[in-house]
Amino acid sequence: MINRLFDHLPLIKLTGVGASLEKKFNTLGIYTVKDLLLHFPLRYEDRTSSCAIGDVTIGEFTTIEGIIIKSELTFNRRQMLICYVQDDSGIAILRFIHFTASMKASLIKGKWISAYGEIKRGKNHFEIIHPQFKLKANRDDKSTTLDSDQERYTPIYPTTYGLSQAIIRRSIMAALLLLKNNPPAEILPPQLASHFLPILDCLNTIHNPPISTQITQLESGEHPAIKRFIFEELIAYHLSMLLIKKHNQNQQSHSFYPSQRLIKPFLYSLPFTPTRAQQRVVQDIYQDMTKAVPMMRLIQGDVGSGKTLVAALAALNAIENGNQVVLMAPTEILAEQHYNNFNHWFTPLGISVEWLSGRLTAKNKQLRYERIKNGEITMLIGTHAVFVDKVEFASLGLVIIDEQHRFGVNQRLTLWEKGIKNNFHPHQLIMTATPIPRTLAMTVYADLDVSIIDELPPGRTPITTVVIPNTRRDEIIERVNQACLDNRQVYWVCTLVEQSETLDAQAAEILVEELQQRLPHLNIALVHGKMKSDLKQSVMQEFKAGMIQLLVATTVIEVGVDVPNASLMIIENAERLGLAQLHQLRGRVGRGTAVSHCVLMYQAPLSKVAQARMKVMRESNDGFVIAQKDLELRGSGEILGTRQMGVANFKVVDLIRDQHLISEVQQASYDIQKNHPQSAAQLVDCWLPNREKYINA
Ligand code: ADP
Ligand code: MG
Repeated sequence: MINRLFDHLPLIKLTGVGASLEKKFNTLGIYTVKDLLLHFPLRYEDRTSSCAIGDVTIGEFTTIEGIIIKSELTFNRRQMLICYVQDDSGIAILRFIHFTASMKASLIKGKWISAYGEIKRGKNHFEIIHPQFKLKANRDDKSTTLDSDQERYTPIYPTTYGLSQAIIRRSIMAALLLLKNNPPAEILPPQLASHFLPILDCLNTIHNPPISTQITQLESGEHPAIKRFIFEELIAYHLSMLLIKKHNQNQQSHSFYPSQRLIKPFLYSLPFTPTRAQQRVVQDIYQDMTKAVPMMRLIQGDVGSGKTLVAALAALNAIENGNQVVLMAPTEILAEQHYNNFNHWFTPLGISVEWLSGRLTAKNKQLRYERIKNGEITMLIGTHAVFVDKVEFASLGLVIIDEQHRFGVNQRLTLWEKGIKNNFHPHQLIMTATPIPRTLAMTVYADLDVSIIDELPPGRTPITTVVIPNTRRDEIIERVNQACLDNRQVYWVCTLVEQSETLDAQAAEILVEELQQRLPHLNIALVHGKMKSDLKQSVMQEFKAGMIQLLVATTVIEVGVDVPNASLMIIENAERLGLAQLHQLRGRVGRGTAVSHCVLMYQAPLSKVAQARMKVMRESNDGFVIAQKDLELRGSGEILGTRQMGVANFKVVDLIRDQHLISEVQQASYDIQKNHPQSAAQLVDCWLPNREKYINA
């Protein structure tokens, strides 16, 4: 393997980087000189040209120049130094919360100054808080530009507390200098490499763009200097997926042939017949399971398309063949619901179904571990608790993961490894309701075979969605009342702050009190993620049984919950949620034959993007359409929930921005895998050092 100096060289070897600075870099995921050099700027600033104060734009980083007409200290809670700067077009304020005595002495009336920073709205004037500044000898003094290195474009890096732009820049410059005499070796195969500039030239352009650089091209990923790295990273990612797939195909698995012993009576016991789409997908699965290599199949199906039934039919095949099955769901509510379903379906067939969650008592857990180990439990359902080290299976034949978007690729592989017994791997089935456009799927799910359930069970009526401001809350409450009087059930989803289940839970508690006062004759209950698990379970069961009419919930009910009699959903603060989440939530209604409604309640004013999102929700019920719109609305600037899609965190690639490269990258990856195995190994090692461990496992 080519020895590349910067690949593994620790940061500490750089001039000017000591232990404490190294630690700060570590928090950004930067450990080696290579990591540092691949820490690319978010954007670039042009500090050499200044802007008239009258023409500045709020939020933009700008240089202004003028004369200080007044300087004062204020004593409002804490001392502040405030300078008023004037040019021919207006007055702006420079505000210093931290300042030295010498600053106080020099920033005085009559001095000419050049200042740089983000423009904020002040009371009477535009302001810059803590600008970078230089005093000038006179109005026309051009000798002091703000940037000491005299470059036109200043890169601005993603950073963390206590790590200034200047320090990052200085460290990167030191790294570039170090490489000057030892340029990194090329790892792309020669023919592909010939399309690009040498690595060091690319790095120099990115971190230190020459005056002639098309800066917008750098920012948009179009510039050849950055394109090389986008290519490298995407290829490395694809290669690792191909390697995983190949590795997978070299493993052994038990082959299962459906005997129909259990499948037949199960289908007979169902109140409905599987849709054609369900049957087709089940055939794909059975086909996979006959092979002696582990199945790795992803089932994509819109909310409500009946993925659980597909999972049950897959499970029965493994069970008929004398194996255990584990089903993992991302939330306790969902795990419990699956447990209830499977219990109802399988117990009459003589299959022992059990569930496992982190919240069981230690004693109960231990008991279940033993029964899993000696094979007494055939069908195990649970949260990720089913994969703790203590869980050992007698003979695990199939792993089912529901709502996979909540789990990352690495997690998926770890889980799979747990099921290995005597070198036999379990088959794996992954189910997701988050549809993604085809080109992205080619990357995200490149290691999986994909089946799509493209049909909803018959008899569903489309959900009507309305968008209403929260000022019309009374009307909405009356509507809830009416639905309950008509014997329907209602969800009221309360979202306050995303990602804080605690705050959401508090808000939901207050909401329940309010609704109980306004609608005293209704049975109202609450469910949120912070509740004890048995309480949660009993609330969900009562709701399912129709004893509760109105269920106030946080977004814990987002995935999978299935109560067909619920036909009205109110989503509060809908403007704060993304399209995928809104679609998931809305999918809780419209599961029965009754006409269902969804009310998206919002707090005015709506941003442009929020307006567009609400419109999409009103106009479409189709998860694939919504996913496509979602991507368009997010645009390339916003880092799409690559996490939501279970994708590894890319360093340079922006999957949305760069999706047009994917087919080309796929071709290149096949070629490299086939004809340049050494390059393949180096690319993966360079870009995904942790991924290797799965491939070599
Ligand atoms: P999801 O794909 O969102 O996980 P579920 O598996 O929860 O969907 O199924 C949604 C509802 O549709 C459930 O109530 C289920 O019983 C019902 N269902 C599933 N398959 C069929 C079918 N073939 N015919 C009628 N109803 C079905
Ligand atoms: Mg489901």
